[in-house]
Amino acid sequence: VRSVKEGDTEVLVPVPEEGANFAPSAAPVFFNPVMEMNRDISIAATSAFLKRMESDPEKTITYVDALSASGIRGLRVANEIGIETTLNDWSEDAYQLILENIEKLGIDGHTFARHKNANVLLHEKHFNIVDLDPFGTPAPFLAAAARSVIDLLEVTATDTAPLCGAHLNSGIRKYAAIPLNNEYHSEMGVRILLGRIARELSLHDKAMIPLLSHATRHYVRTYLHIRRGAKQADKMLKKMGFIAQCECGNREIVYGLAVHVRDKCSLCGKENIISGPMWLGELHEPEFCDETIEELEQRNCGTKEMSVKMLQFCRDELDIPMFYEQHLLCKKLGVSASAIDTLITALRDNGHKASRTHFSGTSFKTDAELPDIERIIADIR
Ligand code: SAM
Repeated sequence: VRSVKEGDTEVLVPVPEEGANFAPSAAPVFFNPVMEMNRDISIAATSAFLKRMESDPEKTITYVDALSASGIRGLRVANEIGIETTLNDWSEDAYQLILENIEKLGIDGHTFARHKNANVLLHEKHFNIVDLDPFGTPAPFLAAAARSVIDLLEVTATDTAPLCGAHLNSGIRKYAAIPLNNEYHSEMGVRILLGRIARELSLHDKAMIPLLSHATRHYVRTYLHIRRGAKQADKMLKKMGFIAQCECGNREIVYGLAVHVRDKCSLCGKENIISGPMWLGELHEPEFCDETIEELEQRNCGTKEMSVKMLQFCRDELDIPMFYEQHLLCKKLGVSASAIDTLITALRDNGHKASRTHFSGTSFKTDAELPDIERIIADIR
């Protein structure tokens, strides 16, 4: 093992043996330094959420890192935030490393190690905050997490190919939905994951309010405020739905689970491709993005600049399903692309809402319909 420092926390992590496969998943205990940004944002977001809950200082808040590996994520929560933390992994090597890390950090008063199947642990006990950070898909853990969680559910998914439709059948099996792999596949992945989580929560008469959701090429991460009650769950499910996409670029967003989705494009009459069911509601709460940015600014973290920038994009992007890719539209129209901010200004000047998006630097979100967008792009020159 070797020692690494992330934030204010020094943790022992495995060093792959000489000549061994260097993939993080090939090590006896998993550690991926590339996920530092994910963890930095996680600490900031968890802390921002706790500040919202501070009304009852007597209340003990419990947090579980259900799939801990070295424990680095949960150890940072215990050490940098200080709430009651449970670290769990079913691997013996990981469990021993977690115990060593807890002792080394001197946080054994409020930090507990568990050596169980995560699903067993989550079925045995309720936690205020549940964090799932698995290899690949979180799908096998969602039922237990939805049952256990009281206030905040934090989920990572690294199986972007199934989520985004690149591995279609795997995505259908894991998420009980049909994704579409086109220009907005990264947002598709987030919405397919959130749709699956919403349906797991509704089983327990729970609802989610997404506070922050972000995607990179390698993962999707989301922070969901949990509310209790059948009425809340019913209201949440109204934000589920489908997207009918035509090859001409036109898309129709259809809310509801038992609804008629038009199979022909309303613009050109060609066959629509239908994806879903998926979450069509909000991905972020702008105030929460701001509160998380404030936490990042105040904390020690290696990815501060990048993380703040990404959260600003999340905060400022329109919460309308599915961004448009400027280059694709320009190719269709046979014109060259302009700076994305020029296009956004033009859309706004024409009376539409428009914003950039954290999903892609060459894309935008707008409430304008396709014919208006195309006319505005063509008129820029
Ligand atoms: N959260 C860690 C981090 O930030 O470095 C990474 C966790 S790693 C991607 C996933 C871990 O889950 C592995 O250590 C694996 O042993 C553990 N795991 C997989 N299935 C499990 C299960 N059913 N119960 C408990 N642990 C499990």
